[in-house]
Amino acid sequence: MKPRIYINDVAVRDGFQIEKNVIATETKVALIDMLSQTGLAKVEVTSFVHPKLVPNMADAAEVLAHIQRVPGVAYTVLVPNLKGMERAVEAHRARGTIDEINVVMSVSETHNRANINRTCEESFADFAVMIGIAKAAGIRMNGTLSTTFGCPFEGHVAEQRVMAFAERYAALGFDGVTLADTTGMGNPAQVKRIAAEAVRRLPGIEFTLHFHNTRGMGLANVVAGIEAGIVRYDGSLGGLGGCPFAPGATGNICTEDMVNMLEDMGYDTGVELDKLLAAAVKLPAIVGHEVPGQVMRAGRTLHLHPVPEKLYTQ
Ligand code: ZN
Repeated sequence: MKPRIYINDVAVRDGFQIEKNVIATETKVALIDMLSQTGLAKVEVTSFVHPKLVPNMADAAEVLAHIQRVPGVAYTVLVPNLKGMERAVEAHRARGTIDEINVVMSVSETHNRANINRTCEESFADFAVMIGIAKAAGIRMNGTLSTTFGCPFEGHVAEQRVMAFAERYAALGFDGVTLADTTGMGNPAQVKRIAAEAVRRLPGIEFTLHFHNTRGMGLANVVAGIEAGIVRYDGSLGGLGGCPFAPGATGNICTEDMVNMLEDMGYDTGVELDKLLAAAVKLPAIVGHEVPGQVMRAGRTLHLHPVPEKLYTQ
């Protein structure tokens, strides 16, 4: 049996949050519905961030109310703070549409303050309250550690600090932890070392790796993570993405490029690549610019071309 890799697409959240054009709610819903039909394990559908900070996420509850849930797909939302938690749980109580809440803090103190205006200790204090609210509503909790593989202000962060923070999430009762390379500073050797240590220390935690392809190392980092034993990966349709508060943070790794690579390598992603590509080609018209995805241009690896005619006539 082929080894299984589980993929979460974050384009509608991590991708759309930085787009300047306002994207219509029904466009988001239609795209999420297409993604739900591809075989993805999880879709991050929106963020309950303050609408003034990220206008494209103002319709979070609306989006959740209108998507067609597909059994077997987990629907996750980003919640940045206690206020967002109240809004998310209210939306969940109305329609029962949230399987998992994802909260975020940075391992780097400087980035955490720049990103969410909190010290790391203040973030953990909030999470201790938030997990109680989520569990009471029957929602799983995932905790993200941004800047795990490097901070644009502080450089590489101490690996001991990454481990200590992952352990604090686990001690609070979180189900999963995402190790995120927010600005594409991670390299495969480092990813393999940190991922292996995290899995060794916390075997009961579902780890996910989240990479940005800022310096072209995204897919190499996925291979390194798999070698270290991690089976869950975030990707973004078309390679959309970035971070509004991290200088120079460009696209997430592209989901369909990752699926194409993993399927070629003999892994089972559960994803139908053609369906994913059919969704990806819609993106440039939605966001109003080209997107970085490569397989959507080149075609899947075994998309063969006719042999040039001159081969026969020579
Ligand atoms: Zn990201």
